Amino acid sequence: MSSVFHRVPNRSLPIAVKGEGMYIFDKEGKRWIDAYAGGACVSCLGHSQESVAEAVREQIGKFAYFHSGMFSSEPLEELGSILTTDAPEGLSRVFFSDSGSEAVETAVMMALQYFVEIGQPKRRKVIGRRNSYHGAGLTNLALGYQLARRAPFEEVLQNVLHISPCYEYRGRLEGETSEQYGLRVANELEQAILGLGPETVMAFVAETVTGTTNGTTPAVPGYFKRVREICDKYGVLLILDEVFCGLGRTGTLHACEQDGVAPDFLCFAKGIAAGFQPIAATLVNQKVYDAIVSGSGTYKGGYTYGGHAVACAAAIAVQKILRGPGFLDQVKATGNLLSKGLNDRFAQHPHVGDIRGRGMMMTIEIVEDRETKAPFAASNALSARVFQNARAKGLITHALTGTVDGYKGDHVVVCPPLIATGENLDTIVALLGESIDAAIMEVRAKAA
Ligand code: PMP
Repeated sequence: MSSVFHRVPNRSLPIAVKGEGMYIFDKEGKRWIDAYAGGACVSCLGHSQESVAEAVREQIGKFAYFHSGMFSSEPLEELGSILTTDAPEGLSRVFFSDSGSEAVETAVMMALQYFVEIGQPKRRKVIGRRNSYHGAGLTNLALGYQLARRAPFEEVLQNVLHISPCYEYRGRLEGETSEQYGLRVANELEQAILGLGPETVMAFVAETVTGTTNGTTPAVPGYFKRVREICDKYGVLLILDEVFCGLGRTGTLHACEQDGVAPDFLCFAKGIAAGFQPIAATLVNQKVYDAIVSGSGTYKGGYTYGGHAVACAAAIAVQKILRGPGFLDQVKATGNLLSKGLNDRFAQHPHVGDIRGRGMMMTIEIVEDRETKAPFAASNALSARVFQNARAKGLITHALTGTVDGYKGDHVVVCPPLIATGENLDTIVALLGESIDAAIMEVRAKAA
């Protein structure tokens, strides 16, 4: 019997013993193909990279840990310079932590401290979006809007106002163009700021391309430009969470490049060390940095393991691959193949309402009725069935409920390691198709 408090204690888990490229092998000898990059869109370089292993070994051989308030280190400085060199405009400083939750929390805490430092302490409110996820801590749950996950903690979550996401498939009205829709939902931000009182609002937080909660939904063209304009007009800081979609996943280094905006904070985690080590980072605008340095002189947050030398060494090796010649072009090409494969298999499927995403992060939204977009009733547990069927076939993917409103709706997220080949993608799409079809047949059989 396991002594570990697993998140889902009643789910029997295979024991992973070895990783190799696109595959994980369990103790029973079963080979799993990875369509979800380590089960959380993390392992973007797959499960074996000799140069990363070597970098880790080498750094441990020198020294592993010293608190970053006592010593800086060569890997820490080098990684800082890599991440800021080609950062979006104005993001000239980087603060390291250990998880996506911490990277987002750091942005919020720095935003709060910034306004205290510049003498606007009333700015304490944050605006977020529905159908979003920003991590598991209490601050993070408050920012995000995964209703089922928030429910037990609701009473102690700080008050964050949530506006509509940019979710074209369900949000765009008939007769509205994509651009008009984008402007309409972006303008909700202005209404929210005016409603709360501009002098009380410190930040707007959004995933540039949503991760799992809303199923890899990119914003329509123009949405983030309008958001940036509104933030600038009212002096509100823009925090973009690219924990999931950042560092190559969308085919460009930063997802926000494709939206033509630079935020005041940009949060990363999964793509930094590709899961070979836990590490996260918050890129920070120079004006925030200057205000803190010339004000109290100390950032009041921070974590014991932030900037861990071994994690930084792994991250440098990963970033050298990601930023190497042709790598991102290859990701774009592979992303196009993935999109084509999914469209060929599912575009005419009677229960697939939408296929969306950007680069190597794609989602299939499953509906009961394509015409009305009505989802299957939650009691059918369709996503859980897809997930189970995929597991039985040795396919690692993620199927979720709550797509529409936090409770109803089903979607399957496909985010393979960025190193996937066309052949890997064919296998993934075929296994996924079988898993979805079988799940729908099970639901029909239950209803009959
Ligand atoms: N933000 C986003 C967009 C995420 O996808 C995640 C993780 N799924 C987080 C924050 C939290 O990251 P972590 O689980 O590493 O704390």
